Amino acid sequence: MSCPRLVIDLDKIEHNAKELVSRLGEKGIGVSGVTKAVLGCPSVADAMLRGGVDGIGESRLQNVSRLRSAALARAATCNVTLIRSPMLSQIDDAVAMCDASLNSELVVLRRLAAAAVRQGRSHGVWLMIELGDLREGAMVDELPELVAFVLDAPSLELRGVGSNLACQSGVAPDDNNMRELSDIVERLEAEFAVAMPCVSGGNSASLHWALNCTGPHRVTNLRLGEAILLGLDPLYRQPIARLYTDAVVLVGEVIEAKVKPVHPWGTVATTSFGVARSRVGSGTIRQALVALGRQDIDPDGLTPPLGLSILGASSDHLVLADVGSAPPVSVGDEIQFGLDYAALLRAATSPFVETITHSKRDVLAA
Ligand SMILES: *Cc1c(COP(=O)(O)O)cnc(C)c1O
Repeated sequence: MSCPRLVIDLDKIEHNAKELVSRLGEKGIGVSGVTKAVLGCPSVADAMLRGGVDGIGESRLQNVSRLRSAALARAATCNVTLIRSPMLSQIDDAVAMCDASLNSELVVLRRLAAAAVRQGRSHGVWLMIELGDLREGAMVDELPELVAFVLDAPSLELRGVGSNLACQSGVAPDDNNMRELSDIVERLEAEFAVAMPCVSGGNSASLHWALNCTGPHRVTNLRLGEAILLGLDPLYRQPIARLYTDAVVLVGEVIEAKVKPVHPWGTVATTSFGVARSRVGSGTIRQALVALGRQDIDPDGLTPPLGLSILGASSDHLVLADVGSAPPVSVGDEIQFGLDYAALLRAATSPFVETITHSKRDVLAA
């Protein structure tokens, strides 16, 4: 098998989705599965859909196109929401390929409405509201104009409102900002005499709030990528109970394994990636090089197996200290790493890393 490779266990993805769908379901919250970190991989979308997510959220049309042309019927035909505001230059494709999109600009809504008319389609709209994290979202005083426009446009369908937190400024979803969201929803409902069908509260960072909240709220949906793929709560970087944290792993191959001095010699200046980490200890260590680099991963986001630790990485070499693996690592060995979101994003995007999915279903079908 090719190296490096990203290996995705679809049964674990399905399990993670099912667990989250069930636990959030008890709170009246549905789940959209977000596949952007794996570039809209259709089999991952299919596993999420088997796990019970309501639809797929994608941020890029290239990934949506991959889903739409998939051989897997569930992934090809599911409800897809574009979770980044469409570019004006892509409006026609956004309407043709996506059932709905997240929006915060009147000019975009106007163009969506016109494109939907031209295509004889209806396009769903989620109006994003700025709640303090300062990424996307309309300010509260802009909302009435946006709502009025969507309600008046026959080719647009108001799906609801949404918010996104913890991505730009690290603002944590909590009872306060979620109550603010619910209050805004109720004010808009009163002003326009409509019932807001859905409220999409946020991403994986909202799980902690959603699973622990006790008071009333209006949130009916979360958009979850990281929590399903990695089983991690991004806010506290903790594993989520009863979820697999190894549904996605990265396998790299050792290309050099030698005993080397702990400390470099010569005049030490900076490396291609800034100042090198200082090395601790004395004498020699067993050092292993893996054919994997910053073009493929974020070295800070990799977890090596027990007995190995990461000393650093350049464009295409990852340097490991072999401090206790038995037997010692040798050339040709494959090493399996855990990944955080940043490392996963880069590995899935690197043209040098093959993505391989597997499932017991494949074995049964074969
Ligand atoms: C990426 C993204 C998500 C999913 O984020 P995760 O942390 O992977 O759950 C949800 N909503 C929006 C708007 C996003 O950009």
